[in-house]
Amino acid sequence: MEKILVSACLLGQRVRYDGGGFDPLQQLLDWQAQGRLVIVCPEVAGGLPTPRAPAEIPGGQGAQVLAGRLPVHTDQGEDVTAPFVRGAEHALALVRQHNIHYALLKARSPSCGNVENYDGSFSGLRVSGEGVTAAALRQEGVRVFNEEQLDELSALLGG
Ligand code: SF4
Repeated sequence: MEKILVSACLLGQRVRYDGGGFDPLQQLLDWQAQGRLVIVCPEVAGGLPTPRAPAEIPGGQGAQVLAGRLPVHTDQGEDVTAPFVRGAEHALALVRQHNIHYALLKARSPSCGNVENYDGSFSGLRVSGEGVTAAALRQEGVRVFNEEQLDELSALLGG
């Protein structure tokens, strides 16, 4: 049975930068009961505390962070690139360990976002882009979905 890498905050774990989590969607609870989920919070795995300062990538391109061309910084101007990259490496190690081909990650996170991201100005503006972990997983060949694409992933996996 295909395993799925999932953002910990989508399963209610209170790991978000503001100390919150999200009520899990029923499909996720069903997959969890089937033992299909591998759960990760890349930012916590990378060594960041909870709660923590919000962080964004200038331009929103996680692949540029992985390539060493862009930083991740907090709204206070602190460079948090290293823990973000460590978190992505941790997620990569998990997908290799569990032979994972699919991920369901939180939309619009500087680590987990897969389609769009905030633009680095901390003003709520969004751009096309992806988080650092989402970029690393995509480069590894993992198909990354967000919670708004859950039906699509569920259909691919046969429910
Ligand atoms: Fe952790 Fe990703 Fe959720 Fe942010 S979006 S809290 S990095 S699992």
